Amino acid sequence: MKPPPFAYECPTEVADAVALLAAHGADARPLAGGQSLVPLLNFRLVRPAVLVDLNRIAALAHVAVEDGTLRIGAMARQAAVEAAPAVARGWPILTEAVGHIAHPQIRNRGTVGGSLAHNDPAAELPAVMLALDAEMTARGPAGTRAIAAPDFFTDTMETALDADELLTGIAVPALPEGTGWSFREAARRQGDFALVAVCVLLRPASGGGLNARVVVTGTGNGPVRVPAAEAILAARGAAGDACEAAGAAAAEAVEPMDDPHAPAWYRRRLVAALTARASMEAATGMEA
Ligand SMILES: Cc1cc2nc3c(=O)[nH]c(=O)nc-3n(C[C@H](O)[C@H](O)[C@H](O)COP(=O)(O)OP(=O)(O)OC[C@H]3O[C@@H](n4cnc5c(N)ncnc54)[C@H](O)[C@@H]3O)c2cc1C
Repeated sequence: MKPPPFAYECPTEVADAVALLAAHGADARPLAGGQSLVPLLNFRLVRPAVLVDLNRIAALAHVAVEDGTLRIGAMARQAAVEAAPAVARGWPILTEAVGHIAHPQIRNRGTVGGSLAHNDPAAELPAVMLALDAEMTARGPAGTRAIAAPDFFTDTMETALDADELLTGIAVPALPEGTGWSFREAARRQGDFALVAVCVLLRPASGGGLNARVVVTGTGNGPVRVPAAEAILAARGAAGDACEAAGAAAAEAVEPMDDPHAPAWYRRRLVAALTARASMEAATGMEA
């Protein structure tokens, strides 16, 4: 199939892109790496009257650390984040997660902002941004606003962005000293979307026990935190039986459905196994 006809705009400034979105509203779509949007166009699942190509906006392409915070422009390629030594040093769970997205050719074009704005329910980046307490910056005709990750990912392929808003950047706070991490994914083939993926962050709590963050994706409308699993790890630590219990609690908490890729019962088993393994792995990486 070929895409339906559309007008094409190629601004070089964020302000011009925002003005174009404001002028055309829901009839316009930003074009980032095109790795999700172009197939949607070709299958005629979306029919925007205007495409606003963001690829010439240099101000959106950065990957930089400022005052300990990782700042990623919405148009930073997934491959650029994967290759950035500063990301590998400070946010290794992000480097690991990006490596699970598709194949190098797709990561060379696909952008961080495009993945977050698209919010596929089995995508790696929304899950890891939720685990890392990232904050998204949106710019629209009324100005700029910050949206915390739990408020940003609202439903399957839905976000808090308005039709006339552009995601411009992502801020990821520094991981606290001593944090152990793990990203585990099961997919049918290397490069496929996750059947299930799990992010675990663990660090010793000041009064004893652990601070725990557990995020699961691939089991419903997108990434979810699993407070029941976090509570078990916080209270019992990350000994083997506590990790198994956290896995069982996570499997209980998610609500997968049968689909052509896997039955719900299989996804639940994956959640249990991956959460337990990720918890053990994160614990071994903790520093007192
Ligand atoms: C074969 C294949 C396999 C893939 N496997 C995976 C996988 O395993 N895991 C995974 O996570 N992804 C996978 N993807 C998708 C890939 O990660 C895409 O790059 C990503 O989903 C979208 O990023 P993009 O830059 O290509 O955005 P585009 O396709 O250009 O845009 C996606 C959507 O986001 C909107 N958008 C883009 N940028 C902005 C912005 N700055 N502000 C507001 N809205 C914006 C667009 O209007 C569009 O609706 C795969 C893609 C292919 C083709």
